[in-house]
This record gives sequence, C-alpha cells and structure tokens, in this order.
Amino acid sequence: MAELLAPASAPPQLVRGACPHDCPDTCALVTTVQDGIAIKVQGNPDHRPTAGVLCNKVSHYAERTNHPDRVLQPLKRVGPKGSGRFEPVSWDTALADIAGRLSAIAARDPQAILPYSYCGTMGLVQGESIAARFFHRLGASLLDRTICASAGAEALTQTLGGKVGMKVEFFAEAKLILIWGSNSIASNLHFWRLAQEAKRNGAKLVCIDPRRSETAEKCHEHVQLLPGTDAALALALMHELVVHDWLDHAYIAQHTLGWEALRERALRWTPERAAAVCGIPAQQIRDLARAWGTTQPAAIRLNYGMQRVRGGGNAVRAVACLPALTGAWRHRAGGLLLSSSGFFPIDKATLQRPDLLAGRKARTINMVTIGDDLLRPASPEFGPAIEAVVVYNSNPVAVAPESGKVVRGFARPDLFTVVPPTATPTCC
Ligand code: SF4
Repeated sequence: MAELLAPASAPPQLVRGACPHDCPDTCALVTTVQDGIAIKVQGNPDHRPTAGVLCNKVSHYAERTNHPDRVLQPLKRVGPKGSGRFEPVSWDTALADIAGRLSAIAARDPQAILPYSYCGTMGLVQGESIAARFFHRLGASLLDRTICASAGAEALTQTLGGKVGMKVEFFAEAKLILIWGSNSIASNLHFWRLAQEAKRNGAKLVCIDPRRSETAEKCHEHVQLLPGTDAALALALMHELVVHDWLDHAYIAQHTLGWEALRERALRWTPERAAAVCGIPAQQIRDLARAWGTTQPAAIRLNYGMQRVRGGGNAVRAVACLPALTGAWRHRAGGLLLSSSGFFPIDKATLQRPDLLAGRKARTINMVTIGDDLLRPASPEFGPAIEAVVVYNSNPVAVAPESGKVVRGFARPDLFTVVPPTATPTCC
C-alpha cells in the first residue's frame, strides 16, 4: 500500500550533450535522465555525422555509470606496492591525506609533484582546465602531452597552415578514398559510414596500413606497406604524378610553396625504390598513383598511427602534399582530413590559467619519458626527483613507452601516487 501511495517518478528528461572522448567522431548525445539518473545514452539523429548511432563503448555508458562494480569510494593502499591490497576510506580522510602529502612536498619544491593525464575524457572544463589551474597554482611540474599526435599535428600545421582539412560529410561524395593509417571501422565509425555511402555511389576505397585490419578487409584494395615507410610511398606517388603529368599546374602555381624542391626530391623515388623500402609491388604503387592522379574528387582520410614512428611527422607532411599536386582541394569532396581542430580554436589560457604560476618557471616533463623520469635522481639539470604523481584520464603503465621502466618507477616505495577511480582512457 505504501508503494502504491509513493509519488510517481518525474517524467524522463532528454539532455543534449557531446561525447567527451578523444575520438574524431565527436558524436552528439541525447541522454535520458529520470529522477536525476542517466538511464539511456543515444546518438542524436538530427546531427548529421552522428546520425543517431553511437559506438558500443558509449552506447553502454548508462550501464557502466550505474554498474554495481564501479569504484565509488576512495581506496587507500594498505599493503606493499603491487600487492593489490586496498581498503575503503571516506572522502574526507582521502582528501585530507592527499592534501597533507602534497602540501609537505610542495613546501620543499612543488616541482617534485607531477600531474599525468591525457585524453580519457575531454570536456573543456572537466577534462583538463580545473586540474591545470590547481597544478599551476601549486607550481607543480608541467606535463608535455606528446604521446598521441604532436608530430602529425605539427606536420599538418607546417604543410597546410593549421590543423584543418575536409569536412567529413563530403567524403560521401568522393570517387576515390585513401584510408591511410586508420582502422576506421574500429575507431572512426561515422567516417566509415560516409565511406560506405561513397562506395555505394561508385567510389573506390583503398586502405593503406601495415596491418590487415577489418577496415583493410572491407576496402577494394589493401596496400600493406611496412611500418614507418609511408613517406617513401607518398614520394613515389609524387614521382608518378610528375612523370605522367597528372598534375594541376595552375593549382600548384597559385596555392603552393616549394614545389620545385619537392619535385626534385620526388623524382628520386621511383616506384621500384619505394617498393623495396615499403615491401609492396612497384606495380601497386604505379596503379595507386594512376588512380590518385586521374580520379576526382579524391580524398585522403589520414590518421595518427603513422606518425608515431621516427620520421612520422615528415611522412604526414609528404602525404599532406598529395592533394595539392592534383588540385584535389578544388572539390569539396577532395583533399585530406587528419584533424580539423584548427577550425575550432579554444582559449586555453582562460580555461587553464597559466597566470596562476605567478611568474614561477615550472619545469616540463615529457609524458613519453615518464619511466626514465620517475627513476631519475635529483640533479641540477633535472631539478628535484619526482616525489608525487597525480594520474587522471590516463594509465601511464599501460600507455607510456618502455613500460618496464614505467612499472619500476611507479613501484618506488617512496613515490606518492594518486589515481582517481574514473581514470579510464579511451585513447592514450
Ligand atoms: S564514436 Fe563513440 S567514442 Fe567516438 S565520439 Fe562517437 S560515441 Fe564518442
């Protein structure tokens, strides 16, 4: 009877938002909220790139958020590091403990404290800004967040003038799409849907990837080059564009710089030379160059995997030159897309408040060398040894290079480590 008299639930509300993950799709979300609890997360059908579809990871957000196994209370380590022994403590106890430990270290030298984060969740305010303000105020070491895209981003900026590229929607109208270094089915789902639309309209899809990914399986052609040889392939494609005069001379003259030097470099990269480097048949390079040189509109979906090797930035530069040589940019469905974040500038200084450093010059630690840096003693060049790491939106043991060193570094008994239970990186 008491249940029957209980007030009825409020009607569900639909809350619009955006996916916070480090994913090129940036889906628009519609979350159903009932009595203050998110009960369903769906893609917004009115947002063209999302088209009502989310990846599995996010379409199950409500289950994950409300899952009984989720860690909701601070856990304090009670055994030796690595023993996995933790006990729950109250938030007040945890916060007082963390504040006490960080304050004591900061009193000696705040640079001995290091934040470690990347793009687990990327809301502009909650992703990095408030944390940055806290660490700036403290005077902690700065983190150079280079693990993912720095080389490619710089290469794109040097080549195109910014992190800019095609509108993803227009890929659906292309007649040739090179999917270069991307397993789109797994990690760029909404682009793949547009590529399928193009395919149904007669486009050819070519996947360029050392790995026979599920995307490679489903393209018309797979160019399975050796890892780290993308620049050689790009230069050989240019070689063929020059030799067969599949060039848009007017576009090159009007919109490019340095073509003569690039032309001279490209002419040294015959298909045979590149074939030996890339581990693919020379004829495949010739055929690919012919397709690129004679098809319009033609587009490249480039992704960041290929720039995570020595010389990767220059490989991106070489690939990013290809659309200009054939005038592919003249068509809205032609050109290249690696990143378009340059179209959406963010005022990071207002969000992250580097002014809170108040004139102090904090040192910068590169996140990819965290293993070495945790094992490094204090020195005049390095500064103080790292005494505390606050990890959020990342899992350095899983993602940072030389993980053996990273594990040894985090196993240091004297290192104070704080890891929020919500640290669930999607990318790095
Ligand atoms: S595909 Fe998934 S992770 Fe990527 S933006 Fe959409 S919902 Fe987020």
